[in-house]
Amino acid sequence: MTRPVLDVRELTKVYGAGEATVHALRGVSLAVGRGDYVAIMGSSGSGKSTLMNILGALDVPTSGTYLLDGVDVSRLVDRQLALARNRLIGFIFQAFNLIPRMTAVANVELPLAYAGVRSRERRLRAMAALEVVGLADRARHEPNQLSGGQQQRVAVARALVTEPALLLADEPTGNLDSRSTGDVLQVFDQLSSAGRTIVLITHEPEVGDRAKRLIRLVDGRIVTDRRQQPVLASMGRHTV
Ligand code: ADP
Ligand code: MG
Repeated sequence: MTRPVLDVRELTKVYGAGEATVHALRGVSLAVGRGDYVAIMGSSGSGKSTLMNILGALDVPTSGTYLLDGVDVSRLVDRQLALARNRLIGFIFQAFNLIPRMTAVANVELPLAYAGVRSRERRLRAMAALEVVGLADRARHEPNQLSGGQQQRVAVARALVTEPALLLADEPTGNLDSRSTGDVLQVFDQLSSAGRTIVLITHEPEVGDRAKRLIRLVDGRIVTDRRQQPVLASMGRHTV
């Protein structure tokens, strides 16, 4: 494989000390190549969020190494970590995290504003990202004028707009009904077909089934890591 987008080795994470010590990760090694679509599953307490926070450069491991697009993230200090994060990762959260009373297109533009991109180019790129998720016609709507599924697709556009090396999603369909889940998964399918690298955490087997690779965590360890034939959407597209 060419240089992996993500390459973690023997990650451990220990919380607390003494009697309160928790070994949240007990030696996790994982390489994700460009264009892969990985679902991470595991029961509550298995270490999913801990792993996701480390993969997202939001937290540091107790031990182990982490290369993100060839950059040794375990050695970066806070400011560099924030820069690597902004440049390399697009985040999608369970709760969408859109800014209220700001239009969809303005929300999508935000990461570009932080990166210092000028307003005209910001607008063009944000509109193109909304086009990708099928919501160009909702660009002027504010979050509370959009359905849950539409809000999450706006959040996907916001994650995409900086052209990150990695899309990282934590329970992206956890707050959605089945129809909206279908719409969001269809966007992920489409992004995966277009060569995007996606890592997501999910509790839902039907979400995990759509990925190309399924990883199971139990008690801070990877117990299964296998390729699978992704299940493709059986439903038609609902965009309204
Ligand atoms: P999951 O997301 O799979 O539910 P987590 O990564 O949140 O699992 O948690 C893994 C283990 O680490 C759990 O036992 C949890 O209680 C513990 N844990 C998580 N975060 C902290 C923290 N900040 N301090 C102490 N223990 C924590
Ligand atoms: Mg969790």
